[in-house]
Amino acid sequence: MLGRTHMAIGALGAVLVLPVLLHDSTAHSMVESVGHGHINQATQLIEGVVVGALGGIVPDLDQKDGLMTRKVERIGQLAMLGSLIILLITMHLWSSPIALGIAICMFFSFVHHAEWVRKTSLILLAVGSVYFGMRFPDYAEIGICSAIWFGVTAFSKHRTFTHSLLGFAIAGFTLVQLGKLQHLVWLSDVAILGYGLHMVADAVAGGIPLFWPFGKRQGIRMVLTGSKADHLIGIFSVLLMLFDVVK
Ligand SMILES: [Zn+2]
Repeated sequence: MLGRTHMAIGALGAVLVLPVLLHDSTAHSMVESVGHGHINQATQLIEGVVVGALGGIVPDLDQKDGLMTRKVERIGQLAMLGSLIILLITMHLWSSPIALGIAICMFFSFVHHAEWVRKTSLILLAVGSVYFGMRFPDYAEIGICSAIWFGVTAFSKHRTFTHSLLGFAIAGFTLVQLGKLQHLVWLSDVAILGYGLHMVADAVAGGIPLFWPFGKRQGIRMVLTGSKADHLIGIFSVLLMLFDVVK
């Protein structure tokens, strides 16, 4: 399915479960609370919807055309820019027009949306996670698990590791631990729900390899990515979400 359809489904899931997670009556009452001076519930609803939608596109970090991949790629591009600048300064080539020209050409070839930019960015995220876990012992487990998830995702094909029970379990465990440390378990739950709904949606859009690296895909092909049905599911999810908020 399209990234925006996954986002809409994740956001809808968030709106439906947030009142339960936060012991509130309905999503509408959370919005209404603003009128009574309780801006906190409405803020939590917005945060939940954003995190649910983001959770809904995390699994597609395994493909270069994923919505989140395009954002994550900035990490690799910035790292490349930084490396080139450091290289030019340390080699005293800053004033050489030829060196500058080569550096600019290299940078623009890197900026180009390519599979290896995705890989590099995810590897950098994995390295960053390890460093963060070593720097802050409380986050050691989170650092290791997220490094494994980013590292395996970097080298896996689309709809393999990230769309399996193994990938879901590692991401879920990481998010739960993060939620506990930040005292934001409800937000972790919403992110996990968004991830899970992505897997369900892909299960009816061609299937997912639940038991990866073993076995084939489970599921059916009821919806083709980019088809009318795909767009309609996205629109319907947004309408349902708005209805739940204003009803
Ligand atoms: Zn997917």
